[in-house]
Amino acid sequence: MARFYVPEPQIEKGLLKVDGSEVKHIRKVLRLKTGDRITIFDGLTKEYEGTIVESESSSVSIRIQNAFSPERDSPLEITLAQSLLKGEKMDYLIQKATELGVKEIVPFFSSRSISLPENSKKLERHDRWEKIAVAASKQCGRGVLPEIRSLQNYSDMLRSVPQDSLRLILWEKERVGLKEVLKGAMEKKKIFFLVGPEGGFSQEEVDQSKEKGFIPISLGKRILRAETASLCLISILQYEWGDIG
Ligand code: SAH
Repeated sequence: MARFYVPEPQIEKGLLKVDGSEVKHIRKVLRLKTGDRITIFDGLTKEYEGTIVESESSSVSIRIQNAFSPERDSPLEITLAQSLLKGEKMDYLIQKATELGVKEIVPFFSSRSISLPENSKKLERHDRWEKIAVAASKQCGRGVLPEIRSLQNYSDMLRSVPQDSLRLILWEKERVGLKEVLKGAMEKKKIFFLVGPEGGFSQEEVDQSKEKGFIPISLGKRILRAETASLCLISILQYEWGDIG
């Protein structure tokens, strides 16, 4: 059944009204009509199944048959803090990390990141990333949208890390492997991890993160592309502690 994202849906007497950009998607792209079944999710906790009872160019009304809170979200709270990558790579990463169930994505820039976009471009990119996360959530059946934080500089990002999370920095020059670190941290329910840009982290940045409680870890001897490293770690974490497996 087609799924649509409607934040704060208006519901009255069992009828859910959709207006705005999703109307076009429902009517023109998917060509759904009166009598068709549809699912709406609010991006926080709720999902509604129902039938379209009215369809106009500016709004669509749905008779709700079933309202529930789906359990498709991982019990493990993973934050992926990713140093800014070139346009398409960042888009790809946000789509895949959403499918794999991260709770939050924190884009940041570090000394070897690609050059920083102007302010207006930053907002544009953030908007674009949110759209990608919504589309990926619709597609994969995720109930709660990942939060995409605004682009931050390295020091501010480090300051914002919750103290009760397991803090990891992926560092290709590290010898200590993931397995060793995870063994000693099985009780953690929140993980915040950092992945560098194409050019990697500088030694100073790794030292700065250690001061904030980050543990450098290696994902093996091969040097992975940043997006491969991120998705590899998310998959392992969901398998070990989260909802894969
Ligand atoms: N510039 C570096 C590679 C950077 S790879 C070089 O060419 O030597 C981009 C990011 O992916 C790194 O900053 C790191 O966070 C992560 N990464 C890649 N391979 C890794 C590995 N084997 N172990 C841990 N992290 C890795």
